[in-house]
Amino acid sequence: MRKLGLVRDIDLALHLPMRYEDETRLVAMSSLRDFSIAQVQGVVQECRVETRARRQLVVRLADDSGELVLRLLHFYPSNQKTLAVGQLVRARGEVRGGFFGREMVHPEFRAVAPGAPLPQALTPVYPSSAQLPQAYLRKAVASALARAPLAELLPPEVLPAGLPTLREALQFLHQPSPEVPLATLEDHSHPAWQRLKFDELLAQQLSQAQAQAVRATLAAPALRQPAGGMASQLLAALPFTLTAAQQRVVAEITADIARPQPMHRLLQGDVGSGKTVVAALAAAVSIAAGWQCALMAPTEILAEQHFRKLVGWLQPLGVTVAWLTGSRKGKARDAMVAQVASGQAMLVVGTHAVIQHDVAFARLGLAIVDEQHRFGVAQRLALRAKLGEQTLEPHLLMMSATPIPRTLAMSYFADLAVSTIDELPPGRTPIVTKVFADTRREAVVARIRDELAQGRQVYWVCPLVEESEHLDLQNATATHAELAAALPGVVVGLLHGRMAGAEKASVMAQFTRGEMKLLVATTVIEVGVDVPGASLMVIEHAERFGLAQLHQLRGRVGRGAAASVCVLLYSGPLSATGRARLKAMAETNDGFEIARRDLEIRGPGEFMGARQSGDALLRFADLAQDSALLLHARAAAPRLLAEQPQAAQAHVLRWLGGKAEFLKA
Ligand code: ADP
Ligand code: MG
Repeated sequence: MRKLGLVRDIDLALHLPMRYEDETRLVAMSSLRDFSIAQVQGVVQECRVETRARRQLVVRLADDSGELVLRLLHFYPSNQKTLAVGQLVRARGEVRGGFFGREMVHPEFRAVAPGAPLPQALTPVYPSSAQLPQAYLRKAVASALARAPLAELLPPEVLPAGLPTLREALQFLHQPSPEVPLATLEDHSHPAWQRLKFDELLAQQLSQAQAQAVRATLAAPALRQPAGGMASQLLAALPFTLTAAQQRVVAEITADIARPQPMHRLLQGDVGSGKTVVAALAAAVSIAAGWQCALMAPTEILAEQHFRKLVGWLQPLGVTVAWLTGSRKGKARDAMVAQVASGQAMLVVGTHAVIQHDVAFARLGLAIVDEQHRFGVAQRLALRAKLGEQTLEPHLLMMSATPIPRTLAMSYFADLAVSTIDELPPGRTPIVTKVFADTRREAVVARIRDELAQGRQVYWVCPLVEESEHLDLQNATATHAELAAALPGVVVGLLHGRMAGAEKASVMAQFTRGEMKLLVATTVIEVGVDVPGASLMVIEHAERFGLAQLHQLRGRVGRGAAASVCVLLYSGPLSATGRARLKAMAETNDGFEIARRDLEIRGPGEFMGARQSGDALLRFADLAQDSALLLHARAAAPRLLAEQPQAAQAHVLRWLGGKAEFLKA
């Protein structure tokens, strides 16, 4: 039970059945229908072990109306005792027409006393494990339910109308009366289900509101930007002017970090909308105010690219930039760590190596997490905990090209300020996406030849073979050889996850400088890589990718002025979802729309990267289905906190226990 998280009485009370069995009725043997699941009761007429074909126990059972055979292919001597001739037996199972009449193979059965009553409620079947029998779990749940502290904590005015009390709801769900339409239990639309979902959503809203209140009491350095300071110098030095959307989000962020409370802000903007320069401007403000800035990216290639860009922008302004990734080890790493600790390096760029335990900042003022959805919740928490002796909290800026859907923004990120770049830099032509069967590979190679002839660059992306990094590599290597042979005289590069960091960086640098024209890569290039000269991307086995991933990949082209094309190659036959995915990609370039469709296919848990941390965030409520309840909970939470803070606190504890910390990330 501990393995299943069933420790406290309340845990058991909230362990809800996944389905029910109807043991409240007996069916007369003469009216059994084939393939139905039924419960019968009768007296054993005959019980014998057959050895023909396979050893088995064959039991003939009769009631007033007819007969039925029970067949056990695995049995113990104790079964023979229970099923001895003359015993009254109750059995439940699937009815099948056998050669010698109707039978049940491996039914559930037990001996009963004459006149033994039938249960009044449906029998719950609980999620369990092989070691934990249902009968045991049923008893444990029933007694825990009686003991559990389920006193009503919520005043009726915060509840949606027509819902039962929590105790009533749980009692009903554990033992529903047989008259209830099973469909309302299965699709969780029954008022008892609604009550549980509401309570859960309310707990989450309350804990968000509490986190927000706590954050409001925390102090952060007020990072004020002097006129003509480093950010203005950086702006003046850029080869472009900011779009209106960029100017707006920069203003939002700089106003926020100028306050002495920690910022908790998401910067969302479609792939290629220019989030990096916004991050650089925020970093410049922080550094000029005398506080360090950390920028964390999910992959080494991306971190490296940020590093180059930021060095190019900020080093001329006198900033020392440190660089920390997993592949940087030994003396070089020690030196960087020392620079970070002394405050000599005012900007630190890297992968999650930035949050390793021996990295300590002198004065961290601003933490920026790029492509935040790629980091687990736990990693974001670790970054916020990197403060050592420092008493002031850093400001936190998260960046994502995958926008948060409305319902998620209202629930987990209720407490998050959001800035949106809703405009691409000028002069980009929209990417045209084409879907081809792999059988047309030759035509695609011809297209590559044309593109290269015009001096452009091309990406060829090979899929991740999930079970095997080795196969993955083989695949990319074979494709590399094939393309090199088909395109003589062309410099074809190869980039994959197994390569050492320095090797990867050198390939990427050659491609960025345009010395390499065609780059065959695995998904290591997925996020954020920026090579404006690339105008064609071919994605092999596109059907194996998720939507958000395809959109991210596609965003690697269309970064310069040339009209760009993305070719999605698939190997048929496609599944229905596979077809829907590729169709969505061809139909829209809008990352927000793609995220919406992605959410439909994958569900919010995975969307948030909660999978990585192994914690399901909502057990009962479903954000896609329960937005009405969510709205209600969202309105109720501040009222309850203001009017009955103790009830609010008790409610959060009942529902979240130790998980509340998790929701603050
Ligand atoms: P993303 O939002 O996907 O992280 P990047 O920050 O990598 O996008 O920006 C994509 C490209 O657009 C980069 O080459 C960047 O220098 C360029 N860029 C950013 N802002 C502008 C702008 N206002 N005008 C022109 N180019 C810009
Ligand atoms: Mg980016």
